[in-house]
Amino acid sequence: MIAILTGTGLVKRYGPATALDGVTLAVGRAEAVAIMGPSGSGKSTLLHCLAGIIKPDAGEVTLLGQRVDTLGERRRSALRRSRFGFVFQFGQLLPELPAEENVALPLMLGGTSRARAVDAVRAWFAPLGLTGLERRRPGELSGGQAQRVAIARALVTRPAVVFADEPTGALDQKTGHDTMNLLTQATRHNDASLVVVTHDPDVARWCDRTAEVRDGRLLVPAGTS
Ligand code: ADP
Repeated sequence: MIAILTGTGLVKRYGPATALDGVTLAVGRAEAVAIMGPSGSGKSTLLHCLAGIIKPDAGEVTLLGQRVDTLGERRRSALRRSRFGFVFQFGQLLPELPAEENVALPLMLGGTSRARAVDAVRAWFAPLGLTGLERRRPGELSGGQAQRVAIARALVTRPAVVFADEPTGALDQKTGHDTMNLLTQATRHNDASLVVVTHDPDVARWCDRTAEVRDGRLLVPAGTS
């Protein structure tokens, strides 16, 4: 397996609490990995370390062989914008912007003009079943449609890795199923790896592999399941 993203010996403490206690995980090219475990086990902390949102106290994170954790905040922020995509539980779309401008936002933050960015993102709507919804604001979309807009926004910069934190947490079972189907297909199709944090086995089933976290440690070492 060619590892795209690796976390090695990751440790993160919050005061006396140890959120991560030496986690090693490698994510392959276009591989989808679910991170599962009970509440408080360290799943979100692991995702945040891998995504360069927080720095671990010990251990290393690399993307395509380059250290992520040693970069300063500005460079990590630039890396997150250009190489990573994010899908959150509630989509976190900007309510005042139409769907197409929400999807175009990562391109505009990267310096593309609004007109060119909106033009470039139109091609993402049909494959995600969003044709005709380009001008709708998030409040005029169903929960499932909003998550599909969030998936388009996560992929529009052609990231190496998409991180999803409970992406179906606010959806009913059928819509959650459809959302995971699209998320795993779209990431694979775009050659992006996928890291999904979830407590839901139905969500994890869509991934190639599951890493189980308990008390800040992995139950099943990466690559042996
Ligand atoms: P999970 O995502 O599995 O619910 P988290 O990674 O959020 O778990 O949390 C792991 C542990 O670290 C928990 O004990 C939690 O209370 C603690 N923790 C997480 N983030 C913080 C923080 N910002 N400040 C203090 N403690 C935190």
